[in-house]
Amino acid sequence: MKTIDQISFSGKKALVRVDFNVPLDGDYKITDDSRITAALPTIKKILNDGGAVILMSHLGRPKDGPTDKYSLKHIVAHLSDLLGQQVEFADDCIGEQATQKAAELEKGEVLLLENLRFYKEEEKGDKDFAEKLSKLGDVYVNDAFGTAHRAHASTAVIAQFFPEAKYFGYLMAAELDNAEKVLNNAARPFTAIMGGAKVSDKIQLIESLLEKVDNLIIGGGMAYTFVKAQGGEIGTSLLEADKLDLANELVEKAKAKGVNLILPTDCIVADKFDNNAQTAVSPNNTIKSDWMGLDIGPESREAFAKVIEESKTVLWNGPMGVFEMESFDKGTKAVADSVVKATENGAFTLIGGGDSAAAVTKFGLSNEVSYMSTGGGALLEYMEGKELPGVKAINE
Ligand code: AMP
Repeated sequence: MKTIDQISFSGKKALVRVDFNVPLDGDYKITDDSRITAALPTIKKILNDGGAVILMSHLGRPKDGPTDKYSLKHIVAHLSDLLGQQVEFADDCIGEQATQKAAELEKGEVLLLENLRFYKEEEKGDKDFAEKLSKLGDVYVNDAFGTAHRAHASTAVIAQFFPEAKYFGYLMAAELDNAEKVLNNAARPFTAIMGGAKVSDKIQLIESLLEKVDNLIIGGGMAYTFVKAQGGEIGTSLLEADKLDLANELVEKAKAKGVNLILPTDCIVADKFDNNAQTAVSPNNTIKSDWMGLDIGPESREAFAKVIEESKTVLWNGPMGVFEMESFDKGTKAVADSVVKATENGAFTLIGGGDSAAAVTKFGLSNEVSYMSTGGGALLEYMEGKELPGVKAINE
């Protein structure tokens, strides 16, 4: 793997694609800076070598060009604090000012460019736009795992302008190493835990995991489509009616492969989608007609815990219930606790980004698991066996 450990940045200007797409509150305060802190080791290595750093990122999904709400200027102060030095800011990612600021950058200094997505060319993967960006630095570093599954100008297309000077940053390297460890080097038993709202988002992942795992636990909203497919009554729980046959096919495939597919047997039902709803414990397959399952129940928590805690490799993607509401977060919390116990027992535990990472963070357990991925979609695509454009662009 071509990582930044293979070069010295002394006297060089590194153009580093990072994923600073952090959540901001109404006062533009960063509510979770983990994506920024994850990129610090790469930035520091370049500075310590005697190089200069030009950071480029997107923030949010601006529709019509520059918008104050999506300006990366909102993160300059916090980034400066984290680095212990003032970070320069260019209020456009290309053009005269960016060119001048990049040219004047001295070794040891950091420049942050304005939101790349203020240009439609970024997401279109426009080659001219990528070339303009490329002129700002001598070396290209990709450390944005969260967008590695996109063939955007700054994540993939730009790499062709650095045929001899393109590298993975430390975050990218760690993400890829950890994903590999799970995909191709898993100690057994290997258990995957899938949750979240929809089966349709995760069909390919489930299919590819059936080739690898010993146990596949399915919880969250997606479990009800499986329960219904097997003849259960699921009330008004989440259902993807067009995926019933597929659910049965996956169950059959698991049997054929000798994979232990584990569905919840009970759930917490509610009379409405509300934290203050009336709740009860119900078997998963006899839910009353106008009630909905919003979390796994106590029997399922226990059954899942047993399997997870006996595993040597665990991959978790997706919450077990509506964990954002306190009344329905116990299943997700129980799974998080079991993953922590498995880690303590010596298992390698990888938390897929997105909602599972948010849940582990919410429960204060982020330091108690082996690795928390910063990439939701990117990790899923990698696990599905797809080649990520951001990875390919550096490797080829
Ligand atoms: P995903 O983005 O597919 O991983 O889904 C995550 C979302 O699924 C979270 O916002 C959860 O609140 C939601 N979710 C999990 N379980 C359920 C459920 N039983 N009913 C409705 N939504 C759920």
